[in-house]
Amino acid sequence: MTFVVNRKNVFILLGIFIVLNVQFSFSQICPIIPSPATYKEFNESLLIEKTVIVDSTGLSENLKNQLKEIAFSYHKMEIKFSSNESQLKFKKLVNVIENSYSINVSNDITISYSSDASCFYAFHSFMQLINSDSEGYSLKKCFVKDYPKFQWRGLHLDVSRHFFTVEEVKRYIDLMSMYKFNTFHWHLTDDQGWRIEIKQFPKLTEIGAWRDSTVENHYTTKPRTYKKERYGGFYTQEQIKEVVAYAASKYITIVPEIEMPGHSRAALAAYPEYSCTGKELCVEGLWGVFDDIFCSKDETISFLQKILDEVALLFPGEFIHIGGDEAPKKRWKECEKCQNVINTNNLKDEHELQSYFIQKMDKYLASKGKKLIGWDEILEGGLSQNAAVMSWRGFDGGIEAAKQEHYVVMSPGSHCYFDHYQGKKNEPLAIGGYTPLEKAYEFNPIPPDLDEKYHSYILGGQANLWTEYIADFKKLEYMTYPRAIALSQTLWSIEKPDYNTFKYILSNNHFKYLEAKKVNFSKTAFLPEVEWKRSKGGLKFRINASKESGQIELSYSRNEILINDYSKTGNNTNVTFAPNSWIQVKRPKKGITNHHYYIKTTENSSSSHFIINATHALGLPIKYITEPSPNYNGGDLTLVDGQFGSLPWKGNEWIGFNKNKIQIELDLGKKMSNFQVFVRFLSDENSWIYFPNDVKIVLDDAFELVNPKIELNDNQQIKTFSFQLSKKTQKVKLVIDSIMLIPSGLPGEGNIPWTFIDEIQILR
Ligand SMILES: [Zn+2]
Repeated sequence: MTFVVNRKNVFILLGIFIVLNVQFSFSQICPIIPSPATYKEFNESLLIEKTVIVDSTGLSENLKNQLKEIAFSYHKMEIKFSSNESQLKFKKLVNVIENSYSINVSNDITISYSSDASCFYAFHSFMQLINSDSEGYSLKKCFVKDYPKFQWRGLHLDVSRHFFTVEEVKRYIDLMSMYKFNTFHWHLTDDQGWRIEIKQFPKLTEIGAWRDSTVENHYTTKPRTYKKERYGGFYTQEQIKEVVAYAASKYITIVPEIEMPGHSRAALAAYPEYSCTGKELCVEGLWGVFDDIFCSKDETISFLQKILDEVALLFPGEFIHIGGDEAPKKRWKECEKCQNVINTNNLKDEHELQSYFIQKMDKYLASKGKKLIGWDEILEGGLSQNAAVMSWRGFDGGIEAAKQEHYVVMSPGSHCYFDHYQGKKNEPLAIGGYTPLEKAYEFNPIPPDLDEKYHSYILGGQANLWTEYIADFKKLEYMTYPRAIALSQTLWSIEKPDYNTFKYILSNNHFKYLEAKKVNFSKTAFLPEVEWKRSKGGLKFRINASKESGQIELSYSRNEILINDYSKTGNNTNVTFAPNSWIQVKRPKKGITNHHYYIKTTENSSSSHFIINATHALGLPIKYITEPSPNYNGGDLTLVDGQFGSLPWKGNEWIGFNKNKIQIELDLGKKMSNFQVFVRFLSDENSWIYFPNDVKIVLDDAFELVNPKIELNDNQQIKTFSFQLSKKTQKVKLVIDSIMLIPSGLPGEGNIPWTFIDEIQILR
């Protein structure tokens, strides 16, 4: 039975501007995520019974099972299949856009679909329209029409650095399916563990699936310590088939990744004869990039092709990922067999040798009816004929491949690496970087400068979950959600609402679904935000509370500290500030003043702490004569906000340059003499970040020949250059020379290094 009721439309708009549709004249905030192409809402509701009667005529057995499961997981709703008195009917569409569907809610409900997958998507959307309360279920009368923007909507999972069980992988896939992802990239092999049973080579899992130790803390922490415990696991072929079938039941295709020629230490531990040296190796317990890779000799090629034979049979999808990233060429340069391959095939260098290696795999996979995809390094030395490229080192690799008319999946580190930090403070240990929810939301797989004729080569996008610092499933969920939901908007929605509207829908309509499924998702994006501004004599900040954070308590203490003496503490005073009011921080007349602020929230009882080390540089106008990289540019206050970048580094606290010469100018506001300038630099060789070669000072356009004092901090990750200056000047320019190119044998060899600066201080 159906009842039609009129319900008052009460919308709490939280400062969000909403365009009213004249024709329907009601707010059109659609609760479905990813947002559908069309949504029209009417001022009437439809009530539905506790047990919904569904006419399943034409639906497959799988769809019927999925419908029951989905209805129960969202709303504990029961479904009964019957063609009599049904409230919900299905209709098959023909000659429409691929995977399109529509939902029509009037006095009953009709879901029209073009494929089984689109019926599955439609049903998820339908569930997200329903409100449940003690009286039962209701939903707004509405019309939804929808279809996907991109055909590759991917999430990746690294099961090598840390292993996840079959049940956990299934849960990962199930959560993906809620947000209309259709591609699961399963990173099955790496230096730290081989995770897929290969019948012809049993040692791959007998030996390669287990390591004897795992590095503790962040791998840049010194001294390095290891947890000396056997760690590992693998999936039998039966288990792989089970996961493939499970994913297929949710209309998700699995792309398996077998890494070659690099990231192969686990395989080489099992079969050292396929390396260049033949020496015995262990399954690696440290994170990073390693010199020992597969040798390019024929025997190795044939070994890997036999592995691909079994992989191709297990995974019905068209793509197989062969890695291709981060393969140091050191061993190949020293190996007689590799040099022979270069000579026999008239190859120019080791990069062409890598291209030769990938071509062998490309042709082989093509002969099996499969397509090869690899990380963007496979462009180096020439892209193989049928290869598709997954662009991770920014967008450039993807742009280059698309221009060569190859298919591309965009997953740039800047937006799509969900192993990065998602908040500025108090986050669990991560590899580094800074990819907040908003950054993931901003992602567009089509770069603005790519000519339209190449757009069709961009298949879509994908987020990657590397698990060096994700040891368990709870943390995996925390890192993935809600960022994956933001990504789903980019990959599915033809047009997405602005970020604040998305956040509103997410917290009002979707948190409850995640909570019902007991997903350990992050609320970092909903914590109070600290907003910074320049002010007269320094800077000011305020703490913007949100509904999710509740009341804010702020306390403060100040330590008067002598110049350059960071250890001496002074008086503490605790003052509580009113939230949302601006708090001034002044430049001290002399030396450094350390201001400590402690923020507490009542609602989610989170707390955070930050220190402003105020010097005369605080809030000074700054001019970047050399533009920082847009990916590592937290704004022009970053270098003069009095806050040091934490370690391991997060992108937002550092300004990053990818140039050999960098010039930055500070305006002191008035002529000054007799002062010191401090500049802090970061080093992280694994991320291609190097200390500068030289730093020079220019005062009011004249070079000041003064030698810097250079100090290295305890763990050798931070270097401070300081200059004692006596001349009278108003402008101070820093001229920074990086090392020219990253030396060979190091990660990123031959590239221009990155220079990262977190702070400039001026002491009087
Ligand atoms: Zn070799």
